[in-house]
Amino acid sequence: MVASLYSKESEKKDICIFLEHRGAGLAPVSLELLSKGRELASHAGWTLTGLLLGYQVAGAASEAFDYGADRVILIDNPKLELFTVDAYTHVAYQIIDVYRPGIFLLGATMDGRDLAGRLAVRLRTGLNADCTGLQLDVEEGRLVCEVSGFGGGILALIEMEKHRPQMATVRPGVFLPSKMSAVKSGQLIRPEIEIPDEIIRTRVVERVIGEGVDLTQAPVLVAGGRGVEGNFEMLNDLAQLLDGDYGATRPPVDDGFVERERQIGQTGVVCRPNLVIVCGISGAFHFVVGIQEAETIIAINSDRDAPIFEYADYCIVGDVHEIIPLLIKALREDRVAERPA
Ligand SMILES: Cc1cc2nc3c(=O)[nH]c(=O)nc-3n(C[C@H](O)[C@H](O)[C@H](O)COP(=O)(O)OP(=O)(O)OC[C@H]3O[C@@H](n4cnc5c(N)ncnc54)[C@H](O)[C@@H]3O)c2cc1C
Repeated sequence: MVASLYSKESEKKDICIFLEHRGAGLAPVSLELLSKGRELASHAGWTLTGLLLGYQVAGAASEAFDYGADRVILIDNPKLELFTVDAYTHVAYQIIDVYRPGIFLLGATMDGRDLAGRLAVRLRTGLNADCTGLQLDVEEGRLVCEVSGFGGGILALIEMEKHRPQMATVRPGVFLPSKMSAVKSGQLIRPEIEIPDEIIRTRVVERVIGEGVDLTQAPVLVAGGRGVEGNFEMLNDLAQLLDGDYGATRPPVDDGFVERERQIGQTGVVCRPNLVIVCGISGAFHFVVGIQEAETIIAINSDRDAPIFEYADYCIVGDVHEIIPLLIKALREDRVAERPA
């Protein structure tokens, strides 16, 4: 097997997180990874580092300290303003070569996945993709990654014995972001790294920001399955009244009733809403992993033996086409009654 750029023996006891930023602040998945990283690093006595690449993004470093980073390595360069895998790989590789973290984590986002694959090859190390859990074996200094395999039928725990850094991408929504209770400062390191023009093989011609859907941030979710028979307008009405959003299982997405970014589950998004109302969904494992961390689960299904009822806090046996309109009507009446005369 090809040896990695550096070995376990020369690694630093450091967990490094690739920090993604969205406009003003860090992306939710970066806050989630920092929080989990803080927990693992504190337990093992390691340091927690954030790697922040971009242009005029220094403000995001203080947010990283708020979420537990001991230090942030910041490369502020106009050539990093927009993500290109060439420039980001070039810079991340050099930082990793110098700082040699034992562990390097990224969010399983579009950019995170793009960068992780390219970087892992250049570093000649392994990559655990799309993890749903992380532990750290302190004695061995090994990252234990939880990954579901064979269509969700098994949950595999994967470790990297020799190759460093131990790289993993983690799905958004898996960990809870938790801000440090006390004000925390940290060390801001600003290395100079040259980015030659010729290494960037993509040119951004135009940037269009779509509306986008992020179900991981919705406090209330109304999820619909095949039993809804494509009537997602009804679910959207209910979601709006509850100040939430709506999502779906895979069949309505495959049938074109709902956009793919609204798919919940193993191959969709993992959510942790305060409340999820699950409508006309059988409760297959592939879907349940996307909502099982919700605080309260209400399930509506016409089949009293549907597996989803095993996960629900409140079970309603009945037809969604009758129950949802009744809920919408009751909520609207409530709103009218609440309005001052
Ligand atoms: C590798 C792999 C990955 C997958 N990833 C995902 C994923 O990310 N997300 C996902 O959702 N699925 C995923 N799936 C598919 C998953 O296994 C299930 O097939 C899917 O979740 C079933 O969706 P459903 O519950 O909407 O449909 P069904 O299983 O067909 O269930 C429909 C339910 O609706 C109820 N119903 C019917 N009519 C009514 C009515 N009028 N009122 C009330 N209830 C009614 C029925 O009783 C039934 O329980 C994946 C599968 C594989 C193999």
